[in-house]
Amino acid sequence: MKDTYLSELMQTVERRNAGEPEYLQAVREVLESFEPVVARRPDLVESGVIDRLCEPERMFIFRVPWMDDNGKTRINRGFRVQYNSAIGPYKGGLRFHPSVTASVIKFLGFEQTFKNSLTGLPMGGGKGGADFDPKAKSDGEVMRFCQSFMTELYRHIGADTDVPAGDIGVGAREVGYMYGQYKRITNEFTGVLTGKGLSYGGSLARPEATGYGLLYFTEAMLAAAGKSLKGARTVISGSGNVAVFACQKAQEFGAHVVAMSDSGGYVTDERGIDLSVLRPIKETERLRISEYAARVESAEYHEGCFNIWQVPCDVALPCATQNELDGRAAQTLAEHKCFAVAEGANMPCTPEAVDIFRKAGVLFAPGKASNAGGVATSGLEMTQNSARMSWSFAEVDEKLKTIMRNIYLSAAAAAKEYGCEGNLVAGANIAGFLKVAEAMKAQGCV
Ligand code: NDP
Repeated sequence: MKDTYLSELMQTVERRNAGEPEYLQAVREVLESFEPVVARRPDLVESGVIDRLCEPERMFIFRVPWMDDNGKTRINRGFRVQYNSAIGPYKGGLRFHPSVTASVIKFLGFEQTFKNSLTGLPMGGGKGGADFDPKAKSDGEVMRFCQSFMTELYRHIGADTDVPAGDIGVGAREVGYMYGQYKRITNEFTGVLTGKGLSYGGSLARPEATGYGLLYFTEAMLAAAGKSLKGARTVISGSGNVAVFACQKAQEFGAHVVAMSDSGGYVTDERGIDLSVLRPIKETERLRISEYAARVESAEYHEGCFNIWQVPCDVALPCATQNELDGRAAQTLAEHKCFAVAEGANMPCTPEAVDIFRKAGVLFAPGKASNAGGVATSGLEMTQNSARMSWSFAEVDEKLKTIMRNIYLSAAAAAKEYGCEGNLVAGANIAGFLKVAEAMKAQGCV
């Protein structure tokens, strides 16, 4: 970082958040893209907006005790960061995964603040979760965990204060159990969570939204470069909520999806991934992706998830988790003449990987812009809940399309305006930041 103010700020952030690598990685990436903003907007430096953005408004850490099926008491650690409320109530998902730490939750909350701003909807940034692993737990265990988690969380959230949703390990089942507990404690039926079931206030197209939105963004990015997904050999990591609907929409756009993964390994299928086989395996039977190869003759299973990027492709869509695509994988993708990488997950590409893509001329869509469709549709769910109405699938999908195209346009325009044309990482950071920054400045030193 060449700018003195920004590099001193980064040092302060490093001192204050020692031992939190994911958070520091996310802050550094954003600050690096702010050099042209700092040069042009000294007023934002003077009002301390950037300094304030590097510190969450507040964070809760709490014990989550629950009883397993054998009557044994288990303990997990729960988190909620209320990162920034300058432009609306805190909004962001809950992640249940053993890798969850304060650092992971803070990085996600920080990114969420910019992402929510990019959607154009009035939502601040938040994130939460627990180091609980829903895998191999019975429904009863998951329910007791979710109820215990909400017994603490409920006092910090509210439809106009903080509205959590799903993320890794938190799908319709977990949201349902948490919503039930919230309602029981507060005696209120409000839109306090999004990603709810359709029968109790959920929005049509919310489950599909992150994956679909990723592809709407990718199509817009490719079209601007004179390319398209039609016939593009595509590799998608993960096989969860984002990956499955990314695959479905990619196939609708004419892409040939040849590989998908889970945390154990990946499958290749030269005839194209068959979602009618994959979805029940992952969604209802909750089995490993290796089962796909056992059921589909043209498929092969490969142990170990990280090697999925060795599969030659034109388009890569990392949709699993943070830092899953490193410099080595990026080098391989570039050598295989992959022409576009779009992040469905949050921060799946390491800084080294992003650098390699930039130098190799690979089109690159950063997650905080390209995966914003999920939270945008959560925003639409909040609107429907407040108005006590529900829109059709087509209405929500149409709004999602418009939002994703607008996010692409505003990231591309900000990149151009601030002298880094074609760099959507910088463009998304700057476009997302400016709205939050103007609001923070207007609201004074709070
Ligand atoms: P899910 O829990 O539904 O799915 C996660 C998937 O990733 C699973 O298939 C999991 O496999 C797999 N996975 C985990 N770690 C790895 C790894 N190291 N390599 C390969 N696969 C791995 O989560 P989501 O699909 O909801 O979320 C995926 C990503 O998208 C996250 O980064 C999340 O923050 C981001 N995101 C999600 C949004 C949403 O609306 N859901 C919105 C915006 C971003 P296994 O089954 O073995 O654990």
